[in-house]
Amino acid sequence: MAILKTDAVVLKGWKMGETSKILSLYTKDFGKVKVVAKGGRNPKSPFRGCLEPLTTIRIIYYDKRTRDLQLLSKADLIDPHSRIIGDMERTTLGLAAAELVDRAVTGEESLPQVYDLLTSVLRGFNEQEDFLEAILWYFESHFMHLMGYKPKWDHCLDCNQSLGKEGGFFQPQSGGLVCSQCGVQKGGLVVEGETLEILFWLQRCGLEEVVQLKPSPSQKSEIRKMFDLYFKSHIDHMQSLRSLGFYYQLTDHPSS
Ligand SMILES: [Zn+2]
Repeated sequence: MAILKTDAVVLKGWKMGETSKILSLYTKDFGKVKVVAKGGRNPKSPFRGCLEPLTTIRIIYYDKRTRDLQLLSKADLIDPHSRIIGDMERTTLGLAAAELVDRAVTGEESLPQVYDLLTSVLRGFNEQEDFLEAILWYFESHFMHLMGYKPKWDHCLDCNQSLGKEGGFFQPQSGGLVCSQCGVQKGGLVVEGETLEILFWLQRCGLEEVVQLKPSPSQKSEIRKMFDLYFKSHIDHMQSLRSLGFYYQLTDHPSS
């Protein structure tokens, strides 16, 4: 058994027994870790305020390799992201990023870049204004890259011709698009050229710039569909993100 210390983002939490809580965490140094916070739901618990999804915490835990569930010993709050928690739109977007990490990361591999990316987009959701969904797109785009399946948005997968304004046919399994000529045979999801420009830009721009994006309704729906299809075809047992379902209801049909 080892006593480990690291920083972590709470991805998800669920109740255990009368007063305890299990947490799925993404840690800076040890990848995804599942811990139990004994008595964590007790109002006087020393873990109070540290166990909510999307908070960033500094933890000490007992790690036993043979166990799936580790024991949380101490937690201190680094950042509660209080503006996210008080706002439904920010919360659902933040939860979508956390849900994606929770579902996509299954092994024990540790990727500090995933931790850094996740904490920086959470800061973005907490601080930025304007088109916040673009922060999630930025996250999805860079997360794909870190997980080892960076898509190719700018050239045809078959003939390598630049896709440009004509757009192309998206082939999620193959990791990109084919041009209109190659697509006659192969088919795929039709995507506008301007949508591809946005996706290509998301791979290169800075996080603070993304909220300036003003996509048209059709570009928005194409990008949402493409990320969804892409993750489903590259991650085992992946389903559409539940948090995003709530987000679309909230923002696209606010009165219903
Ligand atoms: Zn082609």
